Amino acid sequence: MVFINAIINVIIPNANIPFKKSIFSYKIYTFVKNLTKIMSQDLYKAPDYFQMDELLTEEHKLIRDAAREWVKREVSPIIEEACQKAEFPKQIIKGLGEIGGFGPYVPVEYGGAGLDQISYGLIMQELERGDSGIRSTSSVQSSLVMYPIWKYGSEEQKMKFLPKLATGELIGCFGLTEPDHGSNPGGMVTNIKDMGDHYILNGAKMWISNSPFADVAVVWAKNEDGRIKGVLVERGMEGFSTPETHNKWSLRASATGELVFDNVKIPKNNILPNRDGLGAPLECLDSARYGIAWGTIGTAMDCYDTALRYAKQRIQFGKPIASFQLQQKKLAEMITEITKAQLLTWRLGVLKNEGRATTAQISMCKRNNVDMALNIAREARQILGAMGITGEYSIMRHMMNLESVVTYEGTHDIHLLITGMDITGENAFK
Ligand code: FAD
Repeated sequence: MVFINAIINVIIPNANIPFKKSIFSYKIYTFVKNLTKIMSQDLYKAPDYFQMDELLTEEHKLIRDAAREWVKREVSPIIEEACQKAEFPKQIIKGLGEIGGFGPYVPVEYGGAGLDQISYGLIMQELERGDSGIRSTSSVQSSLVMYPIWKYGSEEQKMKFLPKLATGELIGCFGLTEPDHGSNPGGMVTNIKDMGDHYILNGAKMWISNSPFADVAVVWAKNEDGRIKGVLVERGMEGFSTPETHNKWSLRASATGELVFDNVKIPKNNILPNRDGLGAPLECLDSARYGIAWGTIGTAMDCYDTALRYAKQRIQFGKPIASFQLQQKKLAEMITEITKAQLLTWRLGVLKNEGRATTAQISMCKRNNVDMALNIAREARQILGAMGITGEYSIMRHMMNLESVVTYEGTHDIHLLITGMDITGENAFK
């Protein structure tokens, strides 16, 4: 009986069925709790209410399923501890490279997987289902480091960096935001001066994902003419430092930091030669925001799936809480919003594959999906009652992470202004 009651207390959180609290029963309780943790670590079942799988090719499904299995195996068991310790789990970098998490759409000759945009999106969806911090590392590397080197770099730069970034042998970061220039990056003060045979870089970037351990930073700086250029700054260059930002309550499994440039000597062949102006970093952000649009569907699906399972198991007033109308309303609205986002984002993927997705469409999709995921995380958290605030479930972690995702790569407000400008032709930024 002691054993059975102990099991019930573990399987049905907060059941609080009395059992004799002897050392023996406590040992059983702990044993079963650990066993249950191992057995039920990740019960995720992806919702597909409108048979979205029928819109995917066999290759898409294979890639998605491989990423899904990898997240279950490699991310789910370690992510809670990584977040509690506020550490990026570096041991997963190699695996991320192997499942196509770094530059999936970059051509094979540069070490990428040569996949289409829907495959890229599906990988982001699965990674963020695990944790937004893991997806952040992957999408920064793919869209904000490999993309500009691939699109704007010289052949020599591509061959030097892309294959190693694709395997994770090198990790990169992207420096656009400054202490005084966030939503308005065009006002940046970081600058390069032409010294004849090299440049000198001065300034600072803030809130930079991966910066504390990145091997290479794609940094955006103004030249003497006020033109924005892409600069490849490598770890070890004199005057370059990357202090870490601590005490974050969000994206704790992703390392964030500064980039500080104190008269850094930059060889001329470390400037991206084939594009300049603010449009260059903004185009990279389009690609990363597209990945976020997919990724946040993953967090929403995970929160919904967890809340649905919990609501069916949790008994109050003698019935599963899933049988109460108020809880059904929450769950029904969640799956409706997830389904709408899945359809919107799949269509965006088709347009992106055809080279027709606009910046404004990507903005709308990023804004909608992050908001949708954040609302679902908040509602799902409530369905779990007190258990929802613990690390036993992923929901609170997703909710905290999404507070960064709703701000970075263009805030919720800024994306609304992009849509507003697109439909009215009027710029409301200034
Ligand atoms: P601000 O621009 O100061 O905005 C503050 C508020 O004012 C926001 O609500 C905003 O919507 C509003 N606002 C601003 N302008 C307007 C306007 N014209 N009209 C109406 N409202 C307005 N940056 C990088 O370059 N690389 C990275 O890798 C990176 N990683 C990040 C990781 C994390 C965890 C976080 C939190 C941020 C990261 N960022 C990164 C920075 C991020 O992109 C910026 O935080 C974001 O662009 C907003 O800038 P800000 O924080 O300075 O806010």
